[in-house]
Amino acid sequence: MKRNETDVVVLGAGIVGVCAALHLQRRGRDVVLVDRNGTAGDETSYGNAGLIECASVFPYMFPRDLGHLLRYAVNGSADAHYQVSGIPEFLPWLVRYFLASSPRRAAETAKAALPLIRRS
Ligand SMILES: Cc1cc2nc3c(=O)[nH]c(=O)nc-3n(C[C@H](O)[C@H](O)[C@H](O)COP(=O)(O)OP(=O)(O)OC[C@H]3O[C@@H](n4cnc5c(N)ncnc54)[C@H](O)[C@@H]3O)c2cc1C
Repeated sequence: MKRNETDVVVLGAGIVGVCAALHLQRRGRDVVLVDRNGTAGDETSYGNAGLIECASVFPYMFPRDLGHLLRYAVNGSADAHYQVSGIPEFLPWLVRYFLASSPRRAAETAKAALPLIRRS
């Protein structure tokens, strides 16, 4: 069997994988880009609007008002749906999301992401 040798294997040829692979290549690395579909940009990166959208620098925050929370709790919103059996698995993540959604933490997140989005 023929052995292929390379410096880096990038898994996933969406926009993130393609950019990472190109950057590494520019830095002189030998890169192999692999995607389970055998093509690039066929999943999430296929259907976006094609612009770098700076508004996303501010994260979607976990709702804190009772009305929204109740609607989500009874699966009464089209935005989010959950299965009760999944609660033990996603609860720790949900708590972290809730804590990260305080106005102070959200502002810190936006500030940290700003230099990255400015460059793009
Ligand atoms: C409707 C919609 C509109 C959007 N509009 C915008 C917009 O206008 N502007 C903007 O900036 N963002 C937009 N976004 C968000 C943006 O499209 C995504 O954030 C971005 O495409 C994600 O890229 P990605 O490379 O992380 O993921 P993906 O494009 O999903 O790439 C991941 C790749 O990894 C591959 N993969 C997964 N598992 C494996 C594995 N085990 N082995 C090998 N390969 C694997 C998949 O096949 C896939 O090709 C939009 C998103 C949606 C859904």
